[in-house]
This record gives sequence, C-alpha cells and structure tokens, in this order.
Amino acid sequence: MNLALACLLLVLAQHGFEALLLFIQNRHQERLSARVPAHLQGLLSEEGYARALSYAKDKNLLALASQGISLLGLLALLALAWDGHLALWLALAAGHGLAGLALFVLLPLLALSLLEWPLDYARQFGVEQRHGFNKSRPGLWVADKLKGLALAAGLGFLVLWALLGLAQALGQAWWLWGFGFLALVQVFLMLAWPRFIMPLFNRFSPLPEGPLKAQLLALAGRTGFGVAGLFVMDGSKRSSHANAFFTGFGRLRRIVLFDTLVDQLSPEQTAAVLAHEIGHSKRGHTLQGLALALASTLGLTYAAHWLSLRSAWPGSGQAGLAWALLALLALGPSLLFWLSPLSAALSRRWEYQADAFARQACAGAEPLCQALASLHKNSLGNPVPHPLLVAFHYSHPPVPERLRALRSADQAKV
Ligand SMILES: [Zn+2]
Repeated sequence: MNLALACLLLVLAQHGFEALLLFIQNRHQERLSARVPAHLQGLLSEEGYARALSYAKDKNLLALASQGISLLGLLALLALAWDGHLALWLALAAGHGLAGLALFVLLPLLALSLLEWPLDYARQFGVEQRHGFNKSRPGLWVADKLKGLALAAGLGFLVLWALLGLAQALGQAWWLWGFGFLALVQVFLMLAWPRFIMPLFNRFSPLPEGPLKAQLLALAGRTGFGVAGLFVMDGSKRSSHANAFFTGFGRLRRIVLFDTLVDQLSPEQTAAVLAHEIGHSKRGHTLQGLALALASTLGLTYAAHWLSLRSAWPGSGQAGLAWALLALLALGPSLLFWLSPLSAALSRRWEYQADAFARQACAGAEPLCQALASLHKNSLGNPVPHPLLVAFHYSHPPVPERLRALRSADQAKV
C-alpha cells in the first residue's frame, strides 16, 4: 500500500475510534443519569452523582474538541509532506548541519503541541472553573506554558542533536548507542526532575512535625521504606484536585503530598494513601515501569534506524533519519494507541496489587477505602465509566471496583 495513504488511515482510525469511545461514554452516562445506580449508593448522594455526571459530560466534550484539533494538526502535517513542502524544508535544514536537522524534527512537533493551548485554557478557566476546581490565574497559566515550552524546546533540541550526531559519527550501528544515550537521559531525568524541574513550578516545604508526620514515618519504618524527606507541595496554587507521589530511588526517596490531600484526608487516611504508593515500590512496579519505558525507547531507536534505511529521501543519511524521527514522533502515538488496552490493563493490575499491600500495611481496608471514597467524591471522578473507555484509557481501576476488591479481601480474611 502507498505509505502516505497508510499514514492517513492510521491517523483517521485512531481519532475516529477515540471519538466513538467518547460518544459511547456520553450515551452510557445519559442512560444512567436518572438515579444513582445501586452499586454507588452509599458512595454518592443524588446531588454528588448529578455533579459528577455533569463534570464528566463537560470533560467528554473537551476531549472530543481536543481530538478534533489534534486530527487537524496531523492532517496539516501529512498535507505538507504530500505536497513537497516538508521535503523542501528538509533540504534547507540539511544545509545547516545537525542543528538544522534537529530543528526540522522539533519545530513541527512544538507546533502540534501549541495547537492544544487554547483548549487547555478552556479546560482550566472554563470547565475546571465552572466545577470549582480551578485555583490558577491567567498570568500563572501563561508562565507555566512558557516554562514548559522552553523546557521541551531546550531538552528536545539537545537530545535530537545528539542522536543525529551519533548517527553521523557511527553510521549504521548508531541506533544501539542512541538507545544507550536515551536510556541515560531517561534515568537522569527521573532523578533530576523532582529536584531541579518541579521546583520551577511548585514550592516544596518539609512536612511540619505533628501527628501526620509521626504516622507517616511510623508507616515507612514498619514497611522498611527508606525515606530522605517528607514534603508538602502547593498543588492548591492551580487546582483543588489532590494527589501524592514519591520520587527517587533507595535512600534518596522523597515523599510528596499535595497540600490539597493533607487538607482533605485524616492522618490515618493519608497514611493509607502513602502505603499504596509504598506498595508500588515494594511490588517492583517502579523498576518494571522503568524497564518497560526503556524497552519502548529501544523500539523507537530501532524503528527510526529501520525507517531511515527505507526512506525515499534523496541523500538519506542524517536527513533520512531526521525524516524518520519526525514521522515516528508525530505518528507513533496513533499506532501505539492500539496497544493502550495492554498497558492500561497492566497498570490497573498494579493498582490492585498496591491496594492489597496498603490493606495489609494498615491492618485492614477501611483507611484506604475511606481515602479513596473521599478523593473520588471531592474530585467528581466519573461514577459510571463505560467498560470500553476503562479498557483504553483507565490506568487506575474505577474507584467503586477498588473499594469492592479491598472490602471483599477484608471479609475473606474474617
Ligand atoms: Zn497507584
């Protein structure tokens, strides 16, 4: 089949299917909107259920618009490839050496991400505002976006320049070295991100002494989880949604709680959330996740190598590689989308395992159940996600299912 036609079909299939998913979800919600379904009674009030459905509906509309914009961007890129514009730009770029070629790959990708900005603004100051979650201001939003763009441009340029340089220096064997280089960058960013990048966006203050800190340290001690520090992050600067995570490895680990989480949960419930995070580490999910990420990087570098050899681009070499990298980075997500049921299923399995760990570490399911129920209620989580939407997009099982699994494990023990 014609390669250009294959790319077009790939992009249309993904965006069409995503739109279909959203359509199915919307109809599913509307069918269930009359009253709170039996399995959610006790978790949500009539009013809470109606609010969660209305929030979900607004978010579906935004997601649909976002699909539309992303489709238009990719179609424009394909059209530019088709009518020879991209080839012309590549010839120009090749005249400026590695830096020119790196920009040839980077600029269209940055342009595609800029297309999302207006919608992101509508998300923050339209939907999030209307449902009471927005705490950001337009000035802060613009500053965030500019900082993010500068980071993506700077890092993206350096990485692409280095990859193209490796290919120039090493010839055919570049992709294995390119993988080694990208693996180092990935591990470095994992370690450096929380220390040097996140503080550009948020303030991290040590968790003050008190019952909460005592409870969290006791939990870390009980589960043999080395901790270098406990921090509170000012998530409330942008949104009232709550979260918690840990970063780093071994004794360099830092636990970060959103201030919004500390406000919403009791110390015992916060400890249960931390126990869940510790569960991810203890069950090896962090390292397995890293291994999977490195495997996909290997796939990407090999695919770029393979594609550049087949590139019809005259002069091939580094220009052929730049062409292949742009095609892979712009269209790869449309192809990998079809694997998302696998990765999402694995992620949901890990969530159940981390929940089970927390149940044991907290001597029962109740603290985590209360925390999950409260967070789900306060963040207006979608109460009735369609199974197909869950299969493709949910990295976490729906909260009602997590509660059921936790409580039935408790009962099985009695
Ligand atoms: Zn988790």
